[in-house]
Amino acid sequence: MKRTKKDKDIVVFIVRRDSVCCECGEELFSGRFIHLSDKGAACLSCADLDHLSYLPRGNAALTRRARKNSGLSAVVLQWSRTRRRYERQGILASPEAIEKAEEECLDYEELREARRIKARKKREEAELKYVNEFAREIRTFFPGCPPGREFKIADFACRKYSGRVGRSSDAKTFSADAIELALRAHIRHECTDYDTLLMRGYERWDARDEVRGRVEEIIKRWRGEDEA
Ligand SMILES: [Zn+2]
Repeated sequence: MKRTKKDKDIVVFIVRRDSVCCECGEELFSGRFIHLSDKGAACLSCADLDHLSYLPRGNAALTRRARKNSGLSAVVLQWSRTRRRYERQGILASPEAIEKAEEECLDYEELREARRIKARKKREEAELKYVNEFAREIRTFFPGCPPGREFKIADFACRKYSGRVGRSSDAKTFSADAIELALRAHIRHECTDYDTLLMRGYERWDARDEVRGRVEEIIKRWRGEDEA
């Protein structure tokens, strides 16, 4: 008897060497399933297991459900020469049980997918709300900012500094520093030679020194101070 101690699973082996069924005498070539009893190795037909279908391992949830759904099931083992132990290859279960398990798993997957989509949408909405609030703040403090630009700045800032600048512990408030930081970064990259200077090999701080005057000029204008 080749049964493991901890459970009473019916065990079926995949034969490595050609053998013969001890009951009906059928030749069992390598790769066939056999069931061992006190009499010896029997073919599945003689073991009354031939109405079951083979479900190879690989999907734990499917296997679990198929076994649960099947009145009669068996564990399929094969001897591993390299590891020198029997290894689980799959199970035998009734075709109906496997089919039902497949349907159950599908439902489960669909449910999970639906939940994933819902969670992502919620995240995206929160993100969008945040970007819009940030943009509104920019518009309030920098009324001279070119129309529409505040969204670009806010979007970039929120992505770049997600969880850092701007997004303080309470996401409702944006520090003035965060807004100005985002604005300056935007102006530096978009409205000055900063990027070109960096490409030419300028150190970051040298490049910033070079464009500082221009950045201040634009900040002032966007703040609406140039006419004051
Ligand atoms: Zn037989």
